[in-house]
Amino acid sequence: MTQPGERCEKTDETWRNELTPEQYRICRLKDTEPPFSGEYNDCKSPGMYCCVCCGASLFDARHKFDSGSGWPSFWQPAEEAQVDKHHDTSLGMARTEVRCGRCEAHLGHVFPDGPQPTGQRYCINSVALKFDPAE
Ligand SMILES: [Zn+2]
Repeated sequence: MTQPGERCEKTDETWRNELTPEQYRICRLKDTEPPFSGEYNDCKSPGMYCCVCCGASLFDARHKFDSGSGWPSFWQPAEEAQVDKHHDTSLGMARTEVRCGRCEAHLGHVFPDGPQPTGQRYCINSVALKFDPAE
């Protein structure tokens, strides 16, 4: 078990071996799954969404909302310290990329058009998440 706050660093080759081609493409090469394709887009069950790469708890189902975007959307991470944000100007757009705070997996982007109380919309790829249902 890795401890909270501990970094999880693996070589590119290790990630390539451990992840499915789709997970590798999205989490390590920063691709985006097609909208309405992900298995968690419509998921409304209580539980925790964890990083598919390292298992870190990232998003709580209580903070999930239906944004209509086609991707799982949250108005805040389970804990702010569990995600890293990076300025991203790829595709000619200024966006804020969201990464796993432990293993730097690309998760998605955060936009300032979410619901209250935060006004944030974390737009996350289902592929980057593994859902752990509440008991
Ligand atoms: Zn991770």
